[in-house]
Amino acid sequence: MTNFFSKDDNNTNNLFSDGIDLSADDLFGSSDSINTTQESEKKTQVKPKDNSLDGQYNALKDNYEQIFIEAAESIRKELDTIKPQNACEGCSHKDCDIKRKDIFAPYPPAGCKLREWQMQAITYLTGDYKQKLKAAYNDIMDKKKNYECNRCAACCMLSVSEYSYTQLKQRAMKGDKFSEDFISVFVPYESEEDAKEVNPEYFALLNRLVEDEKIYYYYCPKLKNNLCSIYENRPNICRDYPHNPLKLLPSQCSFNEWKDEVSHQAMLLKAKTDIIAFYKEKLG
Ligand code: SF4
Ligand code: SF4
Repeated sequence: MTNFFSKDDNNTNNLFSDGIDLSADDLFGSSDSINTTQESEKKTQVKPKDNSLDGQYNALKDNYEQIFIEAAESIRKELDTIKPQNACEGCSHKDCDIKRKDIFAPYPPAGCKLREWQMQAITYLTGDYKQKLKAAYNDIMDKKKNYECNRCAACCMLSVSEYSYTQLKQRAMKGDKFSEDFISVFVPYESEEDAKEVNPEYFALLNRLVEDEKIYYYYCPKLKNNLCSIYENRPNICRDYPHNPLKLLPSQCSFNEWKDEVSHQAMLLKAKTDIIAFYKEKLG
């Protein structure tokens, strides 16, 4: 589910959870090995800027594949630096016939230095390496402070959620802070047609992307004469918006400049996060 304009996204993990659908399995397929040498020679091509929603979406998808390969190659190189040299010398596993001694090979569970290397790799990727990714995420969000909302109100006039209003209320009653914030300002449009009038471009794109999924459209009645009537007391979902540089933003949103500045960094971060999950699944 991809909530491109939604404020339904108040979780830093969401930077990595959607917006672009390309997983490590897509890249690595059924092969157990990561062989990116040839692909990594292709440098990331930054396509000419197209501010339309279709353009933003296509640019994200097109660039992400190359960036994903770049990320996989960089992780592989890092793990090679901790690979033990001459690991098989003096090994007691006399019948070991593993030819391809890469990170994903099926090494014996005990007494094998390369199996120890696999475990060290997981410890590193989920420990120190993940801390580096968190620092990179913080850097991305810090850069957002260099940009200001132009008060176009596009995000106030149209927000989408995978949850109905009733579901949001139920979630709020169960303690979900985001849902509580969301329903403290947003109310549902009476009809999809009403929402469509607000941003037909968005509708056209969304309808193509979500296919059979049901989504719900909201607006904020606190918006009066295109100004927020509770500006000083607006909730965090409004103060923090947009919280994900990989989401599509309304074309008039001034934070598109922030997205442009950090999109490569953010895609690299998402790719690395997905790749760590893949390593964990394969080696953990
Ligand atoms: S509370 Fe204010 S900033 Fe938030 S959505 Fe409503 S009008 Fe916009
Ligand atoms: S500039 Fe962006 S954050 Fe500000 S009101 Fe417009 S859409 Fe919302």
